[in-house]
Amino acid sequence: MDKNQVSWNEKVAQGIIENLEKRRMAGSYAETGAQALEEVLAMVPDGATVFRCGSITTTGIGLWKRLADRPKVKVIDPYLHGLAREESFQLRRQGLGADIMISSCNAITLDGRLISLDGLGNRVAAMMFGPEKVILVVGMNKVCADLDSAISRVKHYAAPLNAIRLGVETACTHDGLCRDCRSPQRICNMWTIMEGHQLQGRIHVKLVGENLGY
Ligand code: SF4
Repeated sequence: MDKNQVSWNEKVAQGIIENLEKRRMAGSYAETGAQALEEVLAMVPDGATVFRCGSITTTGIGLWKRLADRPKVKVIDPYLHGLAREESFQLRRQGLGADIMISSCNAITLDGRLISLDGLGNRVAAMMFGPEKVILVVGMNKVCADLDSAISRVKHYAAPLNAIRLGVETACTHDGLCRDCRSPQRICNMWTIMEGHQLQGRIHVKLVGENLGY
């Protein structure tokens, strides 16, 4: 990666981590997805139950394949191939009682706020309450200057891209632009803005100096 980009990533990530800590959340920085993978795996102890939530980022760094190789870790995975819709929903409900949930958010602000938008809500529900530990892997491409730009990023970029990825029948899958649709398959139903947490360190944000996910 361009050395100036590396330098920007490190400096900006450090500021965000300091702001997360002021909000009683934790943060750390990995220069690459490969480094982030090892550091996140080290945060999952043997015996843990881990809830998998929808995330291109964590799949992209190879996290779920590596966790599947650990027999002492139980993954609650609603994305297993061949699951019936009701089985997948049941796993989403079970996941709320897991020890750890691992996913990503859709944007993070310089002052340490985490912004997400869900269709079904299981990811944001688990972020808010349930699993004892929440680990979010967030590429530096998701950093936004403030809340307005974060919401705009999610609404006009991340959501249409995710809709296209999921192949849903929504306005944005036709031209890539959000039309604030009312489709039954709309993926933009539940916003969350995480401003902090009473349980210090329950949320850990692993910032990564690469473009990961949407
Ligand atoms: S509201 Fe509808 S059109 Fe807009 S991004 Fe979401 S799914 Fe696409």
